[in-house]
Parts: sequence; C-alpha cells; structure tokens
Amino acid sequence: MFWTGELIAKTAPVRRRTVAFPERSPQLDRAMAAYVGLAVGDALGATVEFLTPNEIRQQIGVHGNLTGGGWLRLKAGQVTDDTTMALALGESIIAAGSVDARAAAEAFDAWMRAKPVDIGNTVRRNLITFRQTGQPEAAASEHDAGNGAAMRVLPVALKCYGQPEKTTKIAIRAQAHVTHHNALSDAACDTLVLMVQDFLAGRDAIEVERQRAGQLVAELPVFAYDKKRRDNPSGFVVETMQAVLQSFFATDNFEDCLIDVVNRGGDADTTGAIAGMLAGARYGYQAIPRRWLATLDQAIRLRCEQQAAALLAPVET
Ligand SMILES: [Mg+2]
Repeated sequence: MFWTGELIAKTAPVRRRTVAFPERSPQLDRAMAAYVGLAVGDALGATVEFLTPNEIRQQIGVHGNLTGGGWLRLKAGQVTDDTTMALALGESIIAAGSVDARAAAEAFDAWMRAKPVDIGNTVRRNLITFRQTGQPEAAASEHDAGNGAAMRVLPVALKCYGQPEKTTKIAIRAQAHVTHHNALSDAACDTLVLMVQDFLAGRDAIEVERQRAGQLVAELPVFAYDKKRRDNPSGFVVETMQAVLQSFFATDNFEDCLIDVVNRGGDADTTGAIAGMLAGARYGYQAIPRRWLATLDQAIRLRCEQQAAALLAPVET
C-alpha cells in the first residue's frame, strides 16, 4: 500500500515520525498528483459548471476554493462523474490486468446503476445500448464528440506507461469507444494520454506542447487553440481541449492553471478535471495547494492515490 507522506504523518504512531518512509519514485509522485489533480479540478470546477465567466465574476469574484454547491448542490470537496468514471475504469483495469473493453463497459454499467450524481447524455445512451446488445463498442458516430471519454482516460495513461504508442492507442480506444466512438474524441484522448506519460517521464512542457499539442493541431486544425480565447467551453471535446490547453500552457503552476480554466465557466468540472490531471503530472504532488487537498473528499483522494500506485506498473530497464 502506498501513502502520501502527509497521511503517514497523520496516521503513524509518534515514534515512527522520525523514520523516513519509502521514497516515491518521481513517476509515482506525478501519477498520484495527476489522479488527485483530476479529482481536485473536478470538485473545484463543478461549483461553476454551466455558468459564464461573467456570472462567475458577479456571483463569486474569482472562484478558487472547493466550496461545493453549483447546479448539482454538491458538498464541499465532492467530485462528479469525471472522477468516479475514471475510478470505475481504473478498478476494471486493475481487476482484469489490462485495459479491456468489456470489463470497462461492465464497470461503467455498474457505475450507472449506482445512480451517480451526474451522467453525460452520450454516456447514458451508449451504456443503455450496451445493456441491450452486450456489445461493448458503440457504433461510430460523428455526434459523439463529447468530452466524456477524455475526462476519464487517466487510468489508461498510467497502465500503459512505458508501452509502445501503438499498444497504448489500442487501449485508449478500448475504453473510449464504450461510449464515444469518434475521431475527435480519439485524438483528444491520444493527446492527453501521451502528454501525461511525457510528464511522468520528466519531459519539458515546451517540448510536450510542440510534440503533442502541436501534432494534434497539425492533424486536426479544428483543435487550434492559439486563435481566440476559449471562454465558456461546452462539452464538445474540441472546445474542452482548447480551454484546457490555453490555461495549461499559459500558466506555470498547478493552482493558477486550475483557477484559470474553471473561471472560464461552461463545462468547468471537466475542464478542471483534465487540467488538474495534466498539471498534477507536470508539477507533482507538492504543487497541489494544501487547502484543496484538505477539503477534497478524503475517501476519493485515497482511492485515487491507491489506484495510481496499482496502475503504474514498474517499467523494466
Ligand atoms: Mg462532471
């Protein structure tokens, strides 16, 4: 079992406080930060989901605390479908030992039966089809370009870390196509997974932007994010990615990145979750503000940390 230093300090007997706990590898630290960052960004953004930037300014000023509320009337620190679907996927990967479409579909179906606080329309529709047909891959659809597969893709990035890109992209599609069988969604998922893996490997943000975001825009110019500020991003994965990439590459720390993206409003829980995942992988655990860690649902935080450790297989050298 892996714990953060902070949790050990709180729970370990006093005499152990002076004993150094096993060092986390830099990769594991960033993997845990990515997972907890996803949850923090989800909880932060959910408060202002569906508000415009002007409405946020009028009602809150600058939104920068995990206060709960919002249209879902959440408790402070409570997460939504972005985090809980990722956790459902992660559990299915750990249980199956690999990214498996049927295992993922069954895990999402069980998640939907448990009446989650929030569920996207495309997710619901295609999971109902899965129940009827037993076919875990949804039919390809140009309409299914929502951000629902991208928001939950982190467990695949961790499980496939160190594997060839081709293998990774097969795994990405296995989970994504359960609900979103769409080329724009696939491209966003590929980019996010490869970016997370780049940061786990310690790559520099300028290089990552050029290689990954640059390649996304070169192949699919609709994703261009250097033209106009993307405020009020919808659930369309292109708008989600534009807002996230603008905030992520224009800031130089975890907190500023998340505050920038969620104050754009719109689908703020999902932009917050995706930005939090990337920022966690880039900046590491110590960069996550302590006030956010303290307010985040602690059971969720622990599950994110444990899954990160279980999913991040040791890379053979
Ligand atoms: Mg959500």
